[in-house]
Amino acid sequence: MNGGQPSNSGSKCMESSMSESGFKAGVKILLRETLFLPNGVCPVCGKVLFRTESYLCERCAQSLPRVTMPSCKYCGKPLPEKGLDFCGDCGPLKDPVLAGGAVWLHYSGSGQRLVHSLKFGHLPQLGSWIGRQMAEAVREKDWAGKLELVVAVPLHEKRLEERGYDQSSYLAEGLAGALNLPYKRKVLKRLYDTPHQIGLSREERLINLTGAFDVLEKKAVSGKTVLLVDDVNTTGSTLRECAEVLKRAGARAVYAAACAGAQ
Ligand SMILES: [Zn+2]
Ligand SMILES: [Zn+2]
Repeated sequence: MNGGQPSNSGSKCMESSMSESGFKAGVKILLRETLFLPNGVCPVCGKVLFRTESYLCERCAQSLPRVTMPSCKYCGKPLPEKGLDFCGDCGPLKDPVLAGGAVWLHYSGSGQRLVHSLKFGHLPQLGSWIGRQMAEAVREKDWAGKLELVVAVPLHEKRLEERGYDQSSYLAEGLAGALNLPYKRKVLKRLYDTPHQIGLSREERLINLTGAFDVLEKKAVSGKTVLLVDDVNTTGSTLRECAEVLKRAGARAVYAAACAGAQ
């Protein structure tokens, strides 16, 4: 008679625990759908993003290593100590080519992780967002009002195929929008894929890049003061080589903007 009871109460127990776990799962889904961005994780620390956070988590957005110290008057890279006017790469040059530069972040820690996500994280829209933030660093410069046109350092076709998007073009687009300037696509072309510049001497870098770029849209840059955009300014040689061909094509002056720069 009582034989069925335990099993009954057991099944009741199971039912209630099932409905309880179902309820918990429902709450979890509800919380996830109302609080968190679907599939959104912070590209710097990997934390799941709240719906109130876009692109970066609040903590990482607040702690990005912004360049506030004195920077090179030619390329904009942060300088290691006060009292210097230019970096070790621009200083020794007779003609630094670049008329000025702005760099938003230090290329270290979370600044470096952000650039890495921009390049390899399949996040082109992150590029537009970063470009908009970079406008802050450009606006601080006394030359910001002279700018007339934004162009991007191009990626070689082979790299574009591998990556699927050109990160610097997204930076340039976001930056131009925030500065209310026109952005012209495909002004420059990378003629051959150059090996990385890091670890090469100044002379080797110049040889490495000489003839690597060409201007496809000479008319667009003729007589213009141009803002040239790249993701990272490490040695400044890519920016200078592009500035050189832009000036040969008739640009009046070339200024540089980079998301991150190394001292
Ligand atoms: Zn984060
Ligand atoms: Zn410099």
